[in-house]
Amino acid sequence: MTTSEFQKYAHELVDWMAWYLDNVGTFPVKSSVKPGEVFAQLPSEPPLSPEGFDMIFRDFQDILLPGITHWQSPNFFAYFPANTSPPSILAEMLTATLGAQCMIWETSPAATELEERVMNWLRDNMGLPSSFEGVIQDTASTATLAAIVSAREKATGFRFNEDGGDGFGALRVYGSTQTHSSVEKGVKIAGIGRKNLVKVRVRSDFSLDPDALEEAIVNDIEKGFKPCCVIATIGTTGTTAVDPVGRIGAICSKYGIWLHIDAALGGTALLLPEMAYMIDGIEHADSFVFNPHKWMFTNFDCSVYFVRDASHLIRTFEILPDYLKTRTRGQVNDYRDWGIPLGRRFRALKLWTVIRTYGIEGLQHKIRYHISLAAKLAEMISAEPEFELILPPLLNTVCFRFIPDGTPAGNINEINEKLNHKLNDTGKIYLTHTMLDGRYVLRMVVSQTNVTDKHVTDAWNLIRSTSRSISL
Ligand code: PLP
Repeated sequence: MTTSEFQKYAHELVDWMAWYLDNVGTFPVKSSVKPGEVFAQLPSEPPLSPEGFDMIFRDFQDILLPGITHWQSPNFFAYFPANTSPPSILAEMLTATLGAQCMIWETSPAATELEERVMNWLRDNMGLPSSFEGVIQDTASTATLAAIVSAREKATGFRFNEDGGDGFGALRVYGSTQTHSSVEKGVKIAGIGRKNLVKVRVRSDFSLDPDALEEAIVNDIEKGFKPCCVIATIGTTGTTAVDPVGRIGAICSKYGIWLHIDAALGGTALLLPEMAYMIDGIEHADSFVFNPHKWMFTNFDCSVYFVRDASHLIRTFEILPDYLKTRTRGQVNDYRDWGIPLGRRFRALKLWTVIRTYGIEGLQHKIRYHISLAAKLAEMISAEPEFELILPPLLNTVCFRFIPDGTPAGNINEINEKLNHKLNDTGKIYLTHTMLDGRYVLRMVVSQTNVTDKHVTDAWNLIRSTSRSISL
């Protein structure tokens, strides 16, 4: 493709992109293609001779687009969001054009220095300790794995990295029954073993019970296990419960255990001063992750990882082959050793454009609006006799069930599952569920970049009217 052809197609694509952003709310939110339907339309062999971009883009529209679930639709209420925004998309275009691989300072000084500056902006505006240093990772799963590996090295005096896993006794990692599955994955990959992840019981608000945590740690020490890491969550995936960081932190400090905070979703809300209570006790934390690619309008992937002691992180991950030695080593941040991959995309650019375009106040306004929409939805649900609000929303996620009069308790789960599928099959909204104490609970996450009061009210009216047609 010549650059003039590139220019022509790029203009056409930008027109299409703007049209898509304006019209994404009119697409069926959840793709309804059947398994194998897209695959069957793709030729089994790649073309031998060049094909024009016109044809490729036509196939994108005809074959691929129907198989896309529209995460940017304001009618998307599923999982947690993977929000984008126009400034973030523009930055991704620049990042793709530069194609810089920003593994060390020398391979693009501006990328490293912008990353450091943006990390400091976020740290200071989220109320994190000023001694924390931050680095961008691809996902929270990766950052949490980095935290577990760092904790493992702390607990073994950096011997695990050197000698492998023998001779330390079983290390133990603690989270709650609501902790995200990425922790279980991290524990497996870090060589700690899934059976050494202790899932501590939760309180009635689904936050980790600190008394149960301490009990588990004391029991484990008595049995000869070595407590290594505790994961506290700010905004659990099921209900956005907030674990009591202060009490958990005091326990971690008492027993010398690494405290990692998974604020993948909830971290964004720390931009609001009124939410600062969520990290009371943050001074006990060793590491903290949150995902701008969820609720901070920054394209996936972009996960921000803060650590109390960057030198510990570097010592855990550093590999220094001769070809990566530079004259600036020690004077600058070489982020290659602040996480798992060597190669790094220029992710700071999109965060920078998002923060500058909205401004901190603009971000605060949007986040507050989403929280207020979730509260309003919760009120509407509470007012409806045949619906049960599971608990008042703390952030942007509303959990509820449909309980039609006279339904035997044993049938409630099935009814709600049916309702969920029926709603999603309309293509008008998309929501997902969680299981809480054996209950199938519907979850509506109200935080898509362009969601408004009307989208939420329309969704709720659809839920109510659809519920009337549900029978077993
Ligand atoms: N932690 C929590 C609380 C989450 O809700 C999620 C994903 O939804 C993750 C971690 C994993 O995030 P990522 O996809 O960035 O690995």
